[in-house]
Amino acid sequence: MISGWLFDAYAKNNKMVFWIKQKNGKTTRLEGEWSHPIYVAADDKSLFKTIIENEIISGFVSSHQVLPKYESLTDSSESLVLQLRLKDSNKAVKLASEIEKMFRFGQIRIYNVDVLPAQTYFYEQDIFPLAYCQIYDKSSIKWNIKDDVWSTDYELPIFSNVHLRVFPKIDEGKIPRYTDRIGHIEIQNYMTGETVEIEEESEADIFGRLMKEIADINPDFMLTDDGDSFTFPYLIERANHNSINLELGKEKSPLIKPRKEGTSYFSYGRIFFKPSTIKLPGRIHIDTDNSFIIAESGLQGLYELARICRMPFHTASRASIGKCMSSLQFYYATKQNVLIPWKPTLSEHPKNLEELIIADRGGMILEPRIRVHEKVAELDFVSLYPSIMQKMNISAETVLCRCCLDSKLRVPQLDSYYRCEKRRGLVPKALEILLTKRKIYKKLRNSVSDIKLKKIYDSRQTALKWVLVTSFGYLGFNNAKFGRIDAHIAVCAFDREILIRTMRTAEWNEFEVLHAIVDSIWVQKKDRHTNLSQNNYERLKDEIETETGFDISLEGVYKWIAFVPSKDNDIVGVPNRYFGVFEDGTLKLRGIEARRHDCPVFFSNYQQIILNMLAETDTVNDVITMFPKIQDVFGKHLKLLKERRVSLNELVFTKRTSKNYDEYQDRNTVENNAILNLHGKGKSLRAGEILKYIIIDYYRSNSKKRSIPIELANSRTKYDVKRYCEILKEVTSTVTGPFGLMLKNEPAM
Ligand SMILES: [Zn+2]
Repeated sequence: MISGWLFDAYAKNNKMVFWIKQKNGKTTRLEGEWSHPIYVAADDKSLFKTIIENEIISGFVSSHQVLPKYESLTDSSESLVLQLRLKDSNKAVKLASEIEKMFRFGQIRIYNVDVLPAQTYFYEQDIFPLAYCQIYDKSSIKWNIKDDVWSTDYELPIFSNVHLRVFPKIDEGKIPRYTDRIGHIEIQNYMTGETVEIEEESEADIFGRLMKEIADINPDFMLTDDGDSFTFPYLIERANHNSINLELGKEKSPLIKPRKEGTSYFSYGRIFFKPSTIKLPGRIHIDTDNSFIIAESGLQGLYELARICRMPFHTASRASIGKCMSSLQFYYATKQNVLIPWKPTLSEHPKNLEELIIADRGGMILEPRIRVHEKVAELDFVSLYPSIMQKMNISAETVLCRCCLDSKLRVPQLDSYYRCEKRRGLVPKALEILLTKRKIYKKLRNSVSDIKLKKIYDSRQTALKWVLVTSFGYLGFNNAKFGRIDAHIAVCAFDREILIRTMRTAEWNEFEVLHAIVDSIWVQKKDRHTNLSQNNYERLKDEIETETGFDISLEGVYKWIAFVPSKDNDIVGVPNRYFGVFEDGTLKLRGIEARRHDCPVFFSNYQQIILNMLAETDTVNDVITMFPKIQDVFGKHLKLLKERRVSLNELVFTKRTSKNYDEYQDRNTVENNAILNLHGKGKSLRAGEILKYIIIDYYRSNSKKRSIPIELANSRTKYDVKRYCEILKEVTSTVTGPFGLMLKNEPAM
C-alpha cells in the first residue's frame, strides 16, 4: 500500500501519471488507465453513427457510448449524447475540430473539449491536489481519500523547494540573447538555506553540474524569476547548442522548447502577454513572474487554491483567478451531470482590486466629495457580490428560470425579474465553499497567536478572496461558460438596493455619507462636535447588518481622509483615489503614486516620506502648520535630481505595452520611442509585455532619443532633469493639493 499526498497528475496518451509525495519524503510515480472524454450532441441522432464510422475520427477514439447528460444548465431534462474517449487525452481539440469539419454549422454541438484532462479526472474521481490518500493496488488505482476539501486544518508534507537563477555572460548595457553563453547558475535551496553556485570552464560542464545538483537535491517545487519567458527557453537553447539532453524533471525526458513563444490576449479592456509554459515532469515549475496567485498569496495560497478548485499546480499557479473559478464550477457541473460547452475560454488577469472594480463596476457609486474631511469612518461589506449571489441564489439557470414563472422571489427595482424557487444554482453552490472557508480562515487568523500559523491562514483567505472577487465578472461575461447577463444585472440590482438601505440607515443615525462605491461607504457624523466612541460606529455597523442582511465590517475611523480627483491623463480612470490616516496612525492609500507600480521608485518613495509625515498629524490644521517642513523635503529631493545624484534604477517607468512593437510607429511618444529603440537592438516587445524606460530628453519631440529602455541604459546615460523635477512637483501636489497647499515655484534649496 502507498499512502501520501497527491502531488501532481497529468495525462500521457491513454494513461494518467500521478506523483505521490510520501511522509518519508519520497515521491512515487503511479500510472493508471484513463483517457479524456468529449461529448457530441445532435438533434438528429443518426449523425452519431456517421461520426463513429468516420475513418479519421476512429483514429482518435478508443471507445464510444451514448449517455444521458444535461446539455445546458437551464435544461430541465437530460438528452442522449455521444461520448468519445480519446486514444490520446491531449488531442481533444484536434478531434473536436475534425468532427466540426464534417457538419454544417449548428448540426452538432460539442462539449468538454477545452478542459484539462487532469481536471476532468479530478472531477470524475472526486479527488484533488494534495489530497491525502491511500492506494492499495498500484496496478489498478482506486482512490481511498483520507482528506476533505472542506477541511481548514489539513496536514501537508514538507516540500523540498529551490530557486533557480541563470546568468548569461554579457557586457553592461547589453540585452541577453540565446546566443550568449551561460556565465553562472545559482540554485538556492530553501530547505537548507544554502545556495549552490555553478561556474565552470565550459557550458557542457555547467550543464553536467546543474543536472547532478538538481538530481541530488530532488526538489518538489522549482521556482524561477522568469522561467517561462527566459530562463528555461534560454537553457534549452544553450543545451541544444552543446548537443546536451537537458533533463531537470523526474522523468527521463529532455526539456523541449515550446513551439510558440506565447500569446497576447485581452482582458478587462487591457492587453496582456502570457509566455508559453515549461513543464518539468514530476516537479512543479513556478515562474514567479507568470503567477498572479504566488505574488498575492504565496505557496500556501496556491495549495489551498489547487485543492478547492481541483487544478494541478502547474496550471493553477499560472491560471488567471477566473480560470480557477471556472474549474470549481466545472466540478459542480460534472457532479450534476451537466456538460461543459466548448467556447473560447475567457482569459483575464486581474492586477489589483481597483482594476477589477472598474471592470465589474455595476453597483451604484456616490461620487466622493473631493477635499479633506475629518473624523470619517469607512465600512466595507464582506465579499458583497458573491454573498448576494450565494444568499439570493443567483445563477444563469435560476434567474428568469422556466420552472417558476410565478415565483415570489423577485429582484428589487426590476419588475420582470424573478428567481427560481425550486433549485439551487450552480454558481451559489460553487461560492458556498469559498465564502464559508474564507470566513473560517479569517476567524482562525485573528484568534491564533502563532505567527507562522497566522500567516498561513491569511495566505489561504487571501487566495480565496481573489477567487471571490472574480466570481461576479464571471457571472455576466457572455464569454464565460456558465455566464448570463441577466444574472449579472440581478446582482447589480441587489447591490444598489443594499447600498441605498445602507445610506439610509447611516442618515437615520445622523451620519452624512461622503462616498459610496460598490461595497464600501465613508460616513461622517453630522454634528462634528459630538465626541464619538468606537461604540457609535459598532452600533451603526450592527444596524446596517440588520437592515440589509449582509455582513459589513468597520474598516476604521480616519483622523482625516482626502478624496483626490482622478488625473485627466490616466488611461484607466481610478474610481478610488484617496489617502487618509486612521486613529491609530496607520495610513491607507488608494490609486495615488506611492501605491502605483508604474511610477518610478524615486517618486513613490518620496511621496511615502511626505505621507509618513502627514500620518503624524491629527487635524487638517496640523497639516497646514507642517507645510514648511514638507516644502523642505521637496527642496532636498529637487536638489538630488538637479545634481544628478539619483540612480537610474530609481527613475524607471514601467508600462504594459498595448500593441506589438511594429504598431508603434505612428506617434513619437516617450514610450513608443523606447519600444522602437529596444526593437532596434534586438528585443521586440509583443502586446502585453512589460516596458521599462527612462526619460532622457522629453522636450525634443522630433528626437529619436526622448527616452531609453532600461536594458540599453549604461553609466553614461543621463536622465532629463527638467522633466523629472516637474514630476516631483506633481507627485507632491497629489498629497498637498487637497489641503489647499501650493508649492512655491522656487523652493528653498
Ligand atoms: Zn425555477
